[in-house]
Amino acid sequence: MGHPANRAEVPAAGVRTPLRGNGEGATLCPICRERPLRGAQTACSPRCRARRHRQRQDEARRARDAEVRALLLTAQESIEAARRRLED
Ligand SMILES: [Zn+2]
Repeated sequence: MGHPANRAEVPAAGVRTPLRGNGEGATLCPICRERPLRGAQTACSPRCRARRHRQRQDEARRARDAEVRALLLTAQESIEAARRRLED
């Protein structure tokens, strides 16, 4: 008594062994798609978490590159328009 059962959602080890390679009954790790997630995990291991972090950084860098490329294109168009005006 006096101990709230606030860990009820975390299954004890070995309570249920989800099938491998089959998402039924368990959410598989979205990074390796091999091991199931437990409790509130979003990655099965620190390794997978690091991998996802790297992937997100890659995506962020790619998005930034695309933005810079669009700005450069706009700048280039402005420069070409200005030069054309001077040549006329
Ligand atoms: Zn994983």
